[in-house]
Amino acid sequence: MEINLVSDTVTKPTQEMLRFMFRAEVGDDVYKQDPTVIQLEAKVAEMFGMEAALFFPSGTMANQTAIKLHTQPGEQLIADKYAHVYNYEGGGVSFNSGVSCCLLNGNRGMITAKQVAGSINDPEFYHSPLTSLVCVENTTNKGGGACYDFEEFKQIRQVCDTHNLKFHLDGARIWNALVATNDNPKDYGKVFHTISVCLSKGLGAPIGSLLLSDKANIHSALRIRKILGGGMRQVGYLAAAGIYALDNHIERLPDDHRRAKELGVVLKKLNWVYNVEPVETNILIFSVQPNLNEAVLMEKLRQKGISISSMGPGKLRIVTHLDYREVMHTYVMETLEKMVFNV
Ligand SMILES: *Cc1c(COP(=O)(O)O)cnc(C)c1O
Repeated sequence: MEINLVSDTVTKPTQEMLRFMFRAEVGDDVYKQDPTVIQLEAKVAEMFGMEAALFFPSGTMANQTAIKLHTQPGEQLIADKYAHVYNYEGGGVSFNSGVSCCLLNGNRGMITAKQVAGSINDPEFYHSPLTSLVCVENTTNKGGGACYDFEEFKQIRQVCDTHNLKFHLDGARIWNALVATNDNPKDYGKVFHTISVCLSKGLGAPIGSLLLSDKANIHSALRIRKILGGGMRQVGYLAAAGIYALDNHIERLPDDHRRAKELGVVLKKLNWVYNVEPVETNILIFSVQPNLNEAVLMEKLRQKGISISSMGPGKLRIVTHLDYREVMHTYVMETLEKMVFNV
């Protein structure tokens, strides 16, 4: 049994999803003539109460397009130090938009309205870059799948309005956040200027993200996507995977969350585990005792058919997903419980 808990992006399309994809009606989406893409865009925009949406090949491209939309070269955005847009998008913030990042020391990847308010450069002080955008993530990736309290978003938006800033949500795992918090997605549409969402993480589609906003922003985003090379042709086959995932795979996310929590409970009892971070969704971050090298643990797990990832010295990450089934879960818990290290 090969069990891959490195990321929720490792899932493969189910037979049902593949069948649904093959039946898609398609057209040339660069001419906006693909009915399935149009259907997906309308469906997701409607879910979040936003006017329009645009289909992207990746979450990175959707985030980078949002940053380009909201900023001019030389300006600055505010984000948590763990932010995906800063850490994992290849430096695209500077490459694509010529923008710098003001990084905040948040809590598990989450920042507060107070922190944001304290980090805005005075627009009259022309020596400093002009602050023009705030980016947040829900759930947080490097922060361990943590979910914001929606009240904080409302307060950050107020700060943004006062200081003429735009507010972008990197919602790669927004579905996990919605399931865990019971938040209403339509409230998200009211608080953010742009939202990116991924279909290729917890929802199990092979590819696909969307950017949501008002009609004017999405119209501008179409040109940016084209420049970035993201204009795609008969891509309705892939959009169909997203439609299928939205209709069938959101309801099973609580299983992923329960399994991550149960793994956390098992790990907490082991003497070679130093700390387990709170588990809110499908990401579990833990650290091992200082005299146990995390590479040794990873190798021992790998020999048992289990892959997990390192997050730096002593720190490890487990992500549950659609292809991590109950039999595998039972096996992983038993395997962890049986592991002994001299610490
Ligand atoms: C995965 C992810 C993205 C987008 O990644 P792609 O691999 O480009 O689709 C964006 N933000 C966060 C927080 C993510 O976890």
